[in-house]
Amino acid sequence: MPARWNADNRPPSLAEFTARFPTDDACAAYLETRRWPEGFVCPGCSSCRGWKLQTKRWTWECRDCGRQTSVTAGTVMHGSKVPLRTWFLAAHLLATHSNGMSALQLQAKLNLGSYKTAWLLLHKLRRAMVAPDRMPLSGDVEVDETTIPYRTKDEPVAGGQGRSQIGKIAVIGAVELLEGNKPGRIRLEVVPDYKGPTLKGFIERNVRRGSHIWTDDNKSYYGLQGYGHTPRVIGKMAAHILMPWIHRVFANMKRWGLGVFHGFRDKYLNAYLNEFVFRWNRRHSYRSAFERLVGIGIAMAPATCADIRASA
Ligand SMILES: [Zn+2]
Repeated sequence: MPARWNADNRPPSLAEFTARFPTDDACAAYLETRRWPEGFVCPGCSSCRGWKLQTKRWTWECRDCGRQTSVTAGTVMHGSKVPLRTWFLAAHLLATHSNGMSALQLQAKLNLGSYKTAWLLLHKLRRAMVAPDRMPLSGDVEVDETTIPYRTKDEPVAGGQGRSQIGKIAVIGAVELLEGNKPGRIRLEVVPDYKGPTLKGFIERNVRRGSHIWTDDNKSYYGLQGYGHTPRVIGKMAAHILMPWIHRVFANMKRWGLGVFHGFRDKYLNAYLNEFVFRWNRRHSYRSAFERLVGIGIAMAPATCADIRASA
């Protein structure tokens, strides 16, 4: 995705970021104000009475139930041995870099000891990219399907030009159409097939009822309930002319996959799509993307390596 920021939404520079978060303590203080803007609240009994322990870093003890809570407990950073400042730097790079980065690039940038640490850090942050309370798309919405060639661990990019689904993953996407023929927010999901219930289920999960859906004349969309629907017969007219924005989204997403990851891997494709969606939906507000990412991370349950593998 091309960088499109102007002076107002330009992301903070690395120097600005470093000045704001010089130490782990500065990061913990930021988390504290984000998590408990009005002072400590015990996650166990909801008591507001507690004190900061002198003997354990960034940990509060509840006066009523005695429970001890670290400022990172229950967040994406929970139980991590990675220093807080490294987490913050990774979130900053992931949220503000217009193209994101691979685990290999992150390992080099942050001088991390192992590839696995970088990989896990990125995957945990990607999980934090989907806000549990995000608003569905609405208004006029273009919806279409595409396929993405994928590679397995040892293979170069597979797939080729054929119609077969072997070596390809089915993906469905939606984009809001704003006034002045501009694209709004997007959604992308890996789907098992292009059958009616699958495509309609995607729309119901991601688009507010009463919105108007624009598709090609794929019969699987017929009978969509609760939405306006205009299927357009593509015929000889190229699909990217009748459905310009969703095709632009698909093209950017595929180019991004090739550029940053040298082709997507099948197992974690949904995580990469979430990252792409996060970046697209905040492409005019890089400045707040980091706050958003850390905010979502705070609201989330902690994730372990096993959780991430289970969700793949
Ligand atoms: Zn308590």
